[in-house]
Amino acid sequence: MTAASSSSAPVVDLRSDTVTRPSRAMREAMANAEVGDDVYGDDPTVNALEHEVADLLGFEAGVFCPSGSLANQLGLRLLVSAGQELVCDFTAHVVRAELGAAATFSQITTRTWQSDRGLLDADTVAGVITPNAGPYLVSTAAIAVENTHNFGGGTVQSVKQLQAVRELATEHGLGLHLDGARLWNAHVATSTPLAELAAGFDTVSVCLSKGLGAPIGSVLVSTTERIAAARVWRKRYGAAMRQVGIIAAAGRYALAHNIDRLAEDHARARLLAEALGSSAEAAPTNIVVLDVPDAPALAVAAREHGVWVSVLGRRTLRLVTHLDVDDNGIDRAIDVLRPLVLT
Ligand SMILES: *Cc1c(COP(=O)(O)O)cnc(C)c1O
Repeated sequence: MTAASSSSAPVVDLRSDTVTRPSRAMREAMANAEVGDDVYGDDPTVNALEHEVADLLGFEAGVFCPSGSLANQLGLRLLVSAGQELVCDFTAHVVRAELGAAATFSQITTRTWQSDRGLLDADTVAGVITPNAGPYLVSTAAIAVENTHNFGGGTVQSVKQLQAVRELATEHGLGLHLDGARLWNAHVATSTPLAELAAGFDTVSVCLSKGLGAPIGSVLVSTTERIAAARVWRKRYGAAMRQVGIIAAAGRYALAHNIDRLAEDHARARLLAEALGSSAEAAPTNIVVLDVPDAPALAVAAREHGVWVSVLGRRTLRLVTHLDVDDNGIDRAIDVLRPLVLT
């Protein structure tokens, strides 16, 4: 199929893996969910989901959240007091895409380190932290790590660097937060157990609404004590929900059915990257970041042919594969994007 003839075909939406719609089977699981008032701890489906995620990640407890941003922000405020500092990569979601929440709600200041595609380097982190800085400099209280790294292009953190950052945090008594919105993708790409990827962190957030295909939902895991405190703050923020098992059921369905299939999204992302002149290594998981001369113009041109992509910067496009894009969709995307990208 040529680009010109494809405009009446269904849209291929590669803007994000958040655009998926719940499948019929997922909707059935939602319709049949047992529910109760979760503010009273009475929703059996929410309780089951929180236990499942905590178990998978090797933690004591979890709390269900309506968004990954909230799960991150609850985690961060448990580790960093007002006037203290969080350090993270300069393109981390917590500092770039949560609209200043750590400063706005928790009075946390932030300093960042430069990275290559979001990849963690413990020596760089060691050069940034200022623990127990006394009355002159801001004291660093926690380090945030993102795995996989969204704006870095779905990059996977090396187990060696994760270990080194853990040691650094322990040595200096710093908290360690993992933004694991796409930790599932890192797990599938490397065959490393989820609990190993999450080990050593004090708080970990994961999203059910990205590649796993649930319509809503994230979970923050930590110790029983910290999660009890997170529940208080979740309610204070107005985000404690009632018969929310209807939504948690989608998350449970996603955990049971949609983790292993992420390998398909990764294979399709590699295919896209190679067809668009990048190397397969440029798409380590389900995200392809492209450097183009004029990203907004290219996105408009692609959209005219039914292929939707994200503009991350003047020269940067992002394409994300997910469970609502099949092989035909990828073929169409390549037909449309290739002539636009390879000119
Ligand atoms: C999507 C995402 C989040 C959470 O986003 P919400 O839209 O608030 O659910 C957090 N971190 C990363 C890296 C993400 O990609």
